[in-house]
Amino acid sequence: MKNNAHDFKAIAEVVSNKLATYLDESQKGNLKTLVQKPAEELAQDLQLEKWIKHGGLNTESVQDFLDTYLKNTQHLHHPHYIGHQVAVPHVATGIADFIHGTINNPMAIYEMGPAAAAIEKFLVNWMLEKIGWFKGSYLGDFSKINSNGGGILTHGGSLANLTALCAARAKIAPEAWTKGTPNDLVILASEEAHYSIARTISIMGLGREAIIPVAVDDLKVMKHEYLLAVYQKVKRQGKRVMAVVANACTTATGLHDPLEEIGAFCKAHNLWFHVDGAHGASALLSTKEKHLLKGIEHADSIIWDAHKMMRTSSLCAAVLFKDFRMMEGAFQQKGSYLFHDKEEVGFDLLPYAVECTKAALGTKLFWVLAAEGEKGLETFIDSTYQNTRLFYNYIHNHVDFECPYFPESNILCFRYTKYGLNNDFQLLLRNHIVERGNFYITSTEFNNIRYLRITVMNELTKEHHIKELLQEIIEVAQIIHNSN
Ligand SMILES: *Cc1c(COP(=O)(O)O)cnc(C)c1O
Repeated sequence: MKNNAHDFKAIAEVVSNKLATYLDESQKGNLKTLVQKPAEELAQDLQLEKWIKHGGLNTESVQDFLDTYLKNTQHLHHPHYIGHQVAVPHVATGIADFIHGTINNPMAIYEMGPAAAAIEKFLVNWMLEKIGWFKGSYLGDFSKINSNGGGILTHGGSLANLTALCAARAKIAPEAWTKGTPNDLVILASEEAHYSIARTISIMGLGREAIIPVAVDDLKVMKHEYLLAVYQKVKRQGKRVMAVVANACTTATGLHDPLEEIGAFCKAHNLWFHVDGAHGASALLSTKEKHLLKGIEHADSIIWDAHKMMRTSSLCAAVLFKDFRMMEGAFQQKGSYLFHDKEEVGFDLLPYAVECTKAALGTKLFWVLAAEGEKGLETFIDSTYQNTRLFYNYIHNHVDFECPYFPESNILCFRYTKYGLNNDFQLLLRNHIVERGNFYITSTEFNNIRYLRITVMNELTKEHHIKELLQEIIEVAQIIHNSN
């Protein structure tokens, strides 16, 4: 394969044909979702040594290579893929990746990708509008508007959380950027906060003990009524609260913290309110489901992953601020960086991002929207949430299964009860199911109880697939039980 247009076209055609077959077979469920060979064996099968030493991949040999490669993937388009909260990518997002990979426009500096930069800015305004934080009259208005929100797309929710909490620190301790983080700062966070929050706090130099946990109930939802007592206690210890962090939704159970109440508390005590909406913020697009996020507009910052419920490939996340000036503080406390300098053509996003070189992230989401429209995304969210409720009914009504709660989102936990309530048994079940490769599911523990866990990321996953899953679990359980 030469680095020229002719060879590009030839190989792109071969690859797109292979991918089309892959997509079709995956969607039809004609194969296993996952077969995991040992990595050493895969390195052999893929002939990695040969390729790396000698090169020479061409339109012929790429076929064998891709056959081997694609066979050894997790098949997210398979209706039996109901594992992690990772988007089953819409085909349109793959086209965006293809274009970006071909032209490479890392657009944190406007000049390095004007079209992609305009798309990102427009989409950030679109997301802000969904929260009620956009104050312009047209989403393509990129000028500084008083009390407008602001935001940026990041390579993932973890970086988005870091960016948001840097902004929170800049507000309460603007000197931290040059003098270091003062040692009286803490955050109040749900006990169930995603681990990226803990990482952020350690990276920022507050230290892990600066996370003051707020108790959660049996289903991992923050007990907001404890906030006041926790707050008073840390105040008595002479600490300052940098932020209060809530989940929308919680990773383990897919349930939502009471944003309205937490928001009111933060307002009353003048505290920065950060909502980790990596998974759940997409419900803002649904007329039916957005009630789950009631109160989110009281936040000061929000993170929202497009690569979870907005069908984009990884990575594409947003960090959004109620007041764009807060974003400007995240990495610099002095001098506000202008979106539009009079002499400049465009805006540089560089000052607001952890990343220096940044992919054309907005294009991934743009292509999904351009294919489906925002209505299409709404339908997608509605159907996955609604299907999860149907699956709950089916599973919970089965004599040998139980679900600990009625789902709010597309995350559902359950366990198989026929052979007792042993935690290890549920884990064995999960591991056997994954090893068989017919289904991909996960597992989680809360309240000291181990559950099987599914996340319905695929609109093709229907009730009959769930019936087949239960059949498979029953079969596997029987085998494990008999062998003991
Ligand atoms: C997935 C998730 C994250 C992390 O986002 P990444 O994009 O994987 O870095 C953070 N918080 C919550 C609640 C999540 O579900």
